[in-house]
Amino acid sequence: MNQIELLAPAGDLTRLKTAVRYGADAVYIGGKQFSLRSRASNFSLADIKEGAAFAKQYGAKVHVTVNMLPHEEDLSGLSDYLTALQECGVHAIICASPAIMMCAKQVAPKLEVHVSTQHSLTNSAAANYWKSKGADRVVLARELTLSQLKEVKEHSELPLEVFIHGGMCISYSGRCMLSNHMTLRDANRGGCAQSCRWKYRLYDNGKPIHDEATLFSMSSKDLMGARFLPELMQMGIASVKIEGRMKSTYYIATLVHTYRMLIDELLENGSVSDEKMDWYCAQLAKAENRPFATGFFQGVPKAQDHLYGINGAGISGEYIADVIDYDSEQKMAVLKVRNKFDPGIKAEVFAPHEPPRQFVISQIYDEEDMRLETANQPMRIVKIPSEFPMSKHAMIRKVIDKKRQIE
Ligand code: SF4
Repeated sequence: MNQIELLAPAGDLTRLKTAVRYGADAVYIGGKQFSLRSRASNFSLADIKEGAAFAKQYGAKVHVTVNMLPHEEDLSGLSDYLTALQECGVHAIICASPAIMMCAKQVAPKLEVHVSTQHSLTNSAAANYWKSKGADRVVLARELTLSQLKEVKEHSELPLEVFIHGGMCISYSGRCMLSNHMTLRDANRGGCAQSCRWKYRLYDNGKPIHDEATLFSMSSKDLMGARFLPELMQMGIASVKIEGRMKSTYYIATLVHTYRMLIDELLENGSVSDEKMDWYCAQLAKAENRPFATGFFQGVPKAQDHLYGINGAGISGEYIADVIDYDSEQKMAVLKVRNKFDPGIKAEVFAPHEPPRQFVISQIYDEEDMRLETANQPMRIVKIPSEFPMSKHAMIRKVIDKKRQIE
């Protein structure tokens, strides 16, 4: 097995630190300028500097999306911004515009230039073209099967980055005008309104063809590529990327924690059993995903890989608390409540680089050691007995017995 980078998203500093603590090799973020997903771009230059310094302590890297397709008037301030990113300790920029790539090479040569998936890169000739223009890596289009990926890898002279998990565009990635058409918000300049996921009424010759309860939407199921990770590592893909800069801290922790364990097991043993792979997929399904499909890894998605009529994403309420301390004398864990929970429930704690561990929450106490019948105030500090130590930065979720769609 070859080493592979685990690349996680982060929408703010808290999520960046969570991704790094839980084992991401690199984190991609958006600054406030020149980034495609403007709503997910919360990083000031000061935040970027702090994030890059934090990541460095863990041997991790920070990539910054500078991936808008700028119009002439958008270019002002670009060279100052790229210079500042380099000074902040950023490792790479992800960009789609040759104007931004060229400028980076001139004014900030220490920054690696990664060509964004917005280029819909589907062949090695295109990858090698970007190498000739000075690019250091390409992010491949999601619309490639495993065998196509293998062929691209065999003939490509650049390291390749591949999406492994998260939301899929219903449109051919990066070639969508829906948002522009419906809202005048330019998806290629940071404004995608996710119009594909809206509810639509369909008419045939003026007659509605469904009732109000089954409005139509074009949402796709989420990608889960864990089962293909062994092949991706064998073929020498440089980096696997989790989608979702808008996603929660819990989502990022759950996914990074699980993919980290899976990659480490593959590096150590060369393979995982089918049973263990099922376990990894069940762990991944504990984050707030939509139902899963396998994207394009096994071929063009079919009707069952879409969510016609439902959005499917939801807050599960499984994530109930953060561990902020552990008193080893009193054997009490100090928690910050995130979602309501009661005494008597079965829970699971997971911490960076530690496997999840199940236990029963026998009692809940407030900070003055008064017993509580429930923990129902988000952000309240409570204590629970625990015979085993819990690490700071661990998270606790309810154990819910339910079947999810894991393909
Ligand atoms: S509207 Fe939907 S399909 Fe189009 S870019 Fe946005 S997320 Fe992708």
